[in-house]
Amino acid sequence: MLFYPDFYCDNVRDVKLEFLKQNNIKGVILDVDNTLIDYYRQFENGTIEWVQGLKKAEIKLCIVSNSNKHDKVRNVAEQLDVPYFHFAKKPFKIGFLKAKKQMGLEAQNIAAIGDQIMTDVVGANRCKMFSILVKPIKEKDIFITRIKRPLENWIIKSYLKRINNK
Ligand SMILES: [Mg+2]
Repeated sequence: MLFYPDFYCDNVRDVKLEFLKQNNIKGVILDVDNTLIDYYRQFENGTIEWVQGLKKAEIKLCIVSNSNKHDKVRNVAEQLDVPYFHFAKKPFKIGFLKAKKQMGLEAQNIAAIGDQIMTDVVGANRCKMFSILVKPIKEKDIFITRIKRPLENWIIKSYLKRINNK
């Protein structure tokens, strides 16, 4: 289902190395806003260490952000020392495909993590990547994101109902 993630969890740190290995994931695409950093551009405790852990395990990483704030995305990428693409226009495929090429992996070996269904999950699913939805770090959000949340919440509810009934 286009709108359903392959996995749903609280935050990026809940995406464990063993889980990625079990699912044959060799590369991870990361969203920035509300996935890696909050409204104040701060990382949550443990997020930088989580990224370092993946790198140590030779999981390839790439940031794909819809933000047009180049300095913000670059700053996050530099702190984590991972390549990045900003203004990516998710859910269009272009940003995901650039990251795929950058990592040199097949779509089936790539997971994409983000906090929004309409951009992160739908885009990853369209590219046949493993989609992971996390809860947004902070709800204090830009206007357009705020409009989309009620619909997202409705989809998440129906998704959880479905997986719990399995
Ligand atoms: Mg986001």
